Amino acid sequence: MKNKNEGKKMLESAQSIIKSTALSLGLDAFVIDKLIQPEMVHEFSFPVSMDDGSKRVFKGWRIQHNSVLGPYKGGIRFHQDTCREEVQALATLMSVKCAVVGIPYGGGKGGVMVNPKELSKSELERLSREYIKKIAHFIGQDKDVPAPDVNTNPTIMAWMHDEYEKVVGRKEPAVITGKPVERGGSLGRTSATGRGGVIVLKALLSKLNKSTTKNFVAFKTSELTVAVQGFGNVGYYFSKLAHELGLKIVSVSDSKGAVYVQDGLDPDATLNCKREKGTVAGCYCKGSVCDIKYGKSIEKNNILTLPVDILVPAALENVINKDNMKQIKAKIIVEMANGPITKEAYDYLSKKGVIIIPDVLANAGGVTVSYLEWVQGKQGYWWSEDEVNEKLKEIMEKAFDDVWKKSKNKNIPLKQAAFDVAIERIVKAME
Ligand code: GLU
Repeated sequence: MKNKNEGKKMLESAQSIIKSTALSLGLDAFVIDKLIQPEMVHEFSFPVSMDDGSKRVFKGWRIQHNSVLGPYKGGIRFHQDTCREEVQALATLMSVKCAVVGIPYGGGKGGVMVNPKELSKSELERLSREYIKKIAHFIGQDKDVPAPDVNTNPTIMAWMHDEYEKVVGRKEPAVITGKPVERGGSLGRTSATGRGGVIVLKALLSKLNKSTTKNFVAFKTSELTVAVQGFGNVGYYFSKLAHELGLKIVSVSDSKGAVYVQDGLDPDATLNCKREKGTVAGCYCKGSVCDIKYGKSIEKNNILTLPVDILVPAALENVINKDNMKQIKAKIIVEMANGPITKEAYDYLSKKGVIIIPDVLANAGGVTVSYLEWVQGKQGYWWSEDEVNEKLKEIMEKAFDDVWKKSKNKNIPLKQAAFDVAIERIVKAME
């Protein structure tokens, strides 16, 4: 996200697909309006004390898009380029995402315009606590349930949860998800988004292997190559679990660089190497050994145009756009970030026959395990990691199946099918 304009574009494209889906389903103007307008927009500023004794004012949002299916649900992002339009677009996509996987939530999203990398740990803690104080009266375990998003994590959720309970003066274990396990978080939440993506990719591959199409003849999973853009939590777990499934991860990147390992790299060794160096650049890891002879360095943006079978954008939005869409060679794209493909690039690539697993399905594993954390918090009884992973698998496979069937029945791409499934569910609940 580079500027307000991009946030605006993202919002327009989320609203335009909802509108066209609703029109194709024959919904009336009132219902379409209800699906597009956010129910509540909280926009505010708040001061935070800096370590040097000065104070700075930060701008924040919590946008509550739709609560027909249940409490608002969605993460909080800290990013210097975030804006109201972007947060609203993401809140809108959360309503769709929760409906696609069939969990009892509406959509919401929060954001603070800040570059957290410029803050000390104690400044970050004060900012997180001040932010949640601002929205404490608008959220609640049966009202609006925040979670992590870009640049926020379990530690930040723990600070926010602690501050929230101080404000309301009681324990409320399920008000925030993505908490550390010691504070009522769920086992399996950290790996959930990546795991969910691999579950739906596996389901897609098995469908494709059964039906030979123009782009796909029968293949062996171990012959497929994958490039993963972004090696944060989502990108790492996606790579690790896809590698365990037998796929060949030939390239990964982060904000500082990218590597290409022709024989397939080892995600765990790459993570260890990244921890040492602060970047994946220079980490050519095959098996447990990292050595320059196994790979080569590539320009980080070139990862998107590599000749691979499967491309996985797992970082920020709008990275596949009109400037690079014609160079994309992958046959399958798994949208692990929110909104990584612009509308123009999406139209171009789908016309070309590229199969795109849309973000509202591909990355829904995170919010799904957030839901499982919420259920555990409310019932005061926690499941084992295997139980959580099993429930995640069940929910994601069913969601994939619903979307796949819709796509086949109506002969529409998976993204359109996902919006159809979601909007039908929301509208049914409104009747
Ligand atoms: N931020 C994640 C998402 O965009 C997770 C949201 C949640 O767990 O509520 O789906």
